Amino acid sequence: MPVAGKDYYQVLGVDRKADQKEIRKAYRKLARENHPDANPNDPKAEDRFKEISQAYEVLSDAEKRKQYDQGPSAFFGEGFGPGYGQGGGRAYGGGFGQGGQAFSGDFADLFSSLFGGRAGAGARTRRQPRESRGQDVTATVTLSFEDALKGVTTRIQVPRNVACPTCNGSGAAPGTQPQICPVCQGRGVVSQSQGVFALSQPCPRCGGDGMVIETPCPTCSGSGTVSKMKTYKVPIPAGVKDGTKIRLKGKGEASAGGGPPGDLYVVTRVEDSDLYQRRGQDLTIEVPVSLTEASLGARVEVPTPDGKVSLKVPAGIKDGTLLRIGGKGAPLLGEKGRGDLLARIRVETPRDLTEDQRELLERFAELRHDNPRSGRAGWG
Ligand SMILES: [Zn+2]
Ligand SMILES: [Zn+2]
Repeated sequence: MPVAGKDYYQVLGVDRKADQKEIRKAYRKLARENHPDANPNDPKAEDRFKEISQAYEVLSDAEKRKQYDQGPSAFFGEGFGPGYGQGGGRAYGGGFGQGGQAFSGDFADLFSSLFGGRAGAGARTRRQPRESRGQDVTATVTLSFEDALKGVTTRIQVPRNVACPTCNGSGAAPGTQPQICPVCQGRGVVSQSQGVFALSQPCPRCGGDGMVIETPCPTCSGSGTVSKMKTYKVPIPAGVKDGTKIRLKGKGEASAGGGPPGDLYVVTRVEDSDLYQRRGQDLTIEVPVSLTEASLGARVEVPTPDGKVSLKVPAGIKDGTLLRIGGKGAPLLGEKGRGDLLARIRVETPRDLTEDQRELLERFAELRHDNPRSGRAGWG
């Protein structure tokens, strides 16, 4: 029963001029904070919640609000009868009489999102079986650069929850059984009738499971599962990169409620190579050439993932030039074809010259009159 002296604007903490949006916002916030399901240990929460709901019921309705603004006596005197009657005792939904329609609509809306569909409460008689999927499991495998290119079948060990061998997964000590919860009779929820509200909340004894274990299994402490290392053969396809995820369907955790098992994700870690760097599907390799090779041109042997190939270095090549060796890069993951190998030419300047070599180079310079800076803008 509403307390006539209580100011609805104060209850919602809004200004008398507050618009519908502000009122709705204030209500949602307060309702969330004061919902009895969210405050199982606070007996006052329910009263506050009712008050907030009443205030909103009135202030959210333009007509009722107008009446209310004209004065509480005018308001309570007419037009707001049945639902608030003494000894209400009805669960919310119908309990608010006129306007209850809009109200319960709001409720369902708000609380199904807040409490996972438990809004209507009381109505549920049996716990829904949990048929959710088992959890996904992630494991990491480290590969050499070469194995990542070629593909390899590897074995990994993954800790997995398996049914406890002592209790076969029941969680109860051998010779005992999980019992139907004496508090909720297996329903998983407990209901209380308080005033106009029928409240439902998860059973405090069994935590909503509906079953209790009186004597826990000594091996698994009642959880029903133990962790065990399981070995999986993982086919790593050719061409994986650092961070590639491989999914092994159904190799994750089993589902507690008989749903499908989760998946096992294997994440590849690829070691660096001494020779190659990876750029997408292409590989790069540094190819050192001498000054004379660079000047005169040469054929040099270049290691590729498939063995050596002979690479033609054209005369006059510049340091840093990339020469493409087609089809010797990384395999395309899951399809045909491969990237390329890019040979980055590094021209090595000769050092530690002998007297003869120095003379020859000086002679060479005389013949060339070499000055690579002449004729360039800004160099005079
Ligand atoms: Zn229970
Ligand atoms: Zn056990």
